[in-house]
Amino acid sequence: KTFKELQLIGPVQRALADENYETPTPIQAQTIPAALDGRDVLGSAQTGTGKTAAFSLPILHRLAQRPRKARPNRPQVLILAPTRELAIQIEQSIATYGRHLKVRRTSVFGGVSQVRQVRTLNRGVHILVATPGRLLDLMNQGHIHLDDLDVFVLDEADRMLDMGFLPDLRRIISKLPDERQSLFFSATLPPKIVELTDTLLTDPVTVNV
Ligand code: AMP
Repeated sequence: KTFKELQLIGPVQRALADENYETPTPIQAQTIPAALDGRDVLGSAQTGTGKTAAFSLPILHRLAQRPRKARPNRPQVLILAPTRELAIQIEQSIATYGRHLKVRRTSVFGGVSQVRQVRTLNRGVHILVATPGRLLDLMNQGHIHLDDLDVFVLDEADRMLDMGFLPDLRRIISKLPDERQSLFFSATLPPKIVELTDTLLTDPVTVNV
């Protein structure tokens, strides 16, 4: 399979060409068609398999196809990552893949001042990449509302549980709108993770690489 066959919109294909991506990785080949169809996805994949593009490309495609104004403090896509480093990396990948689109995005994480993060959220972003603790802090202060949310991504779920984020995750999940698409990625699928996927995902397409 080629990226052309995945029928991604032109601006996304051009960004892939800019990066000299020719062939989708296995997780991309399996995840992208399902995600483009609006299905929930359960992907078990390690880093380095191309999973960031596997969820970012269909998200960008769908945002660009049905553009909606980014309302202040109301992201349309939320991507949760366990660490600041990963959050920044995901945001950079989205910037790269979305370079020919007018998609607004930012990342929020702890350990730095909130001031700039709050200001960016106030201006409105389509895509928010966040770590769980800072996300909850900002939600509790009214700087982030999830009522415009269409897509929820949980990346490196097993690592998040190892870091003790399960209570935070449960709180965040309880605030997600019922009508949404969820994309779930984890390197391993221990029982606690399977339990989480049961509460989060509806009839998911399971991808194993
Ligand atoms: P990830 O697993 O998302 O962290 O991606 C691992 C690395 O593979 C990143 O440096 C990506 O830029 C690169 N990559 C992802 N998908 C492709 C692809 N289809 N072709 C070539 N490189 C890719």
